[in-house]
Amino acid sequence: MKVKFPCFDCLQENENGELIGEIDGVHDYVSCKCENGHSAKVFPQTPLYVYLLEHALDAYKNQMYFEAFLSAYSSLENLWRITAKAALWNSFRGAKGLDLVEKTSELSTYHQSERCLGLFLQTAIQFFGAAIQPYLKELIQGNKSIVSVRNRIMHGSAMPSQNDTKQVIELLHHLRSFVELKMTYTLEMDAPKGIDSKQGILQTFSSLFVIEQQRKTPGFKKYAKEVIHRGSEIPMTNDLYNGPYSDTSLHMWHSSPMFTQEMDREKELKNQLSMGIDDLVKERSKLINLLNQ
Ligand SMILES: [Zn+2]
Repeated sequence: MKVKFPCFDCLQENENGELIGEIDGVHDYVSCKCENGHSAKVFPQTPLYVYLLEHALDAYKNQMYFEAFLSAYSSLENLWRITAKAALWNSFRGAKGLDLVEKTSELSTYHQSERCLGLFLQTAIQFFGAAIQPYLKELIQGNKSIVSVRNRIMHGSAMPSQNDTKQVIELLHHLRSFVELKMTYTLEMDAPKGIDSKQGILQTFSSLFVIEQQRKTPGFKKYAKEVIHRGSEIPMTNDLYNGPYSDTSLHMWHSSPMFTQEMDREKELKNQLSMGIDDLVKERSKLINLLNQ
């Protein structure tokens, strides 16, 4: 799946280049190249499942239901993984938590569809209680459930219908809105030091995780060393983004600084749950127009 970012190096040469790369679902970064010869590893702050949701909506709009169904289902799997990781991080916190998540990331539970689903079911029930049940039922119960339809497509020769595709995209959007807006800090377990408690756990975790991954790259290490050595700032270039590439406002992601109160989130969740496929396709079109301006 191809994605575009503005090119930092071009910007400094007063050019208008675009970094283009492919999200592979394996790496936390996107290897990109621009038409003027620059290259970069971009670490987007928006989680992968949001990109996949948007890709599913684009394919749906073009009546490519197979592509749309599979993208939406990959997005679901990505959401399950990140939710389980964020919950694990939250129960340990700090660098220790991130380290633990990193070590366990290698486990195949995170990579195989059915195992990953099992992991999510347990985590979600533990974290959200009964409120998550309606979503889980739609996901797994009966032969019309999303998992059944997916298995028929993957293991048989069935093609997803428009209705199957609509169903998976809507559930994905409702489930991820629920997780993004409900996975919040509580009185018993407040936000870590230096983190705004109005930010959700999923948001904090995905930013911290991306920053951590980025810090481990040779490019970043070299950058940090040079900056400390010279004691002055080096201009940012594509390979040395100072922080993760902040692109959340351009995507369908409920960035929580928008919500100052618990009530705002509840209201927003209701609003998102009332959205069907047509509303989602419209919202996506609005964002594309913004990006192309
Ligand atoms: Zn460039």
